[in-house]
Amino acid sequence: MQGCALACPGCVSQDTWAFEPGRALPLPVLLAWCREMAQDGLDGVTISGGEPFEQAAALLALLEALRDWRHETGRHFDILCYSGQPWRRLQSQFAPILALLDAIIPEPFQARRPTRRLWRGSANQPLIPLSPLGQERYAPYLDRDAEHRPFQIAVDGERVWAIGIPGAGDLERLEQRCAGHGLRLGGVSWRA
Ligand code: SF4
Repeated sequence: MQGCALACPGCVSQDTWAFEPGRALPLPVLLAWCREMAQDGLDGVTISGGEPFEQAAALLALLEALRDWRHETGRHFDILCYSGQPWRRLQSQFAPILALLDAIIPEPFQARRPTRRLWRGSANQPLIPLSPLGQERYAPYLDRDAEHRPFQIAVDGERVWAIGIPGAGDLERLEQRCAGHGLRLGGVSWRA
């Protein structure tokens, strides 16, 4: 979800900071895209940003639609959401949204506290199951260090998308390896 005012130092997604209402995506269009993507199988939906809770009404509408889709089709996918907000604030201000999630990774990214925990950007970020399905899917990973952090690279024309949560220094290593093959990255999302 586009837009984040938190500006955590070291954020790798600085391209998501700007609030750009001119590029709003209608929910039915987003859902149609989700259904198309799910044709080959789907076991989970991850919502990140930006800061998803900055668009609380849209986030709630999306989650209600995903819940209805899950019920209609009997699909057994879980919903994981990231947030840079403190967990206590989310609990006090966004209970209806939390009730529709299976798991959440809250708290602002802290570059000075690297971690090997799966799916987390820094050591202060917990993984919190919020439903029986979330417990079933995520409980084995709450405190487990990852030997390898899954990280996907997709090429779309002249744009390169990095999907996943990179570890400390991963993106710089990626940039160096690309340079070693004569490929210079311009306008990367981890530098202003
Ligand atoms: S790490 Fe997340 S919460 Fe922090 S500035 Fe980046 S997008 Fe925003």
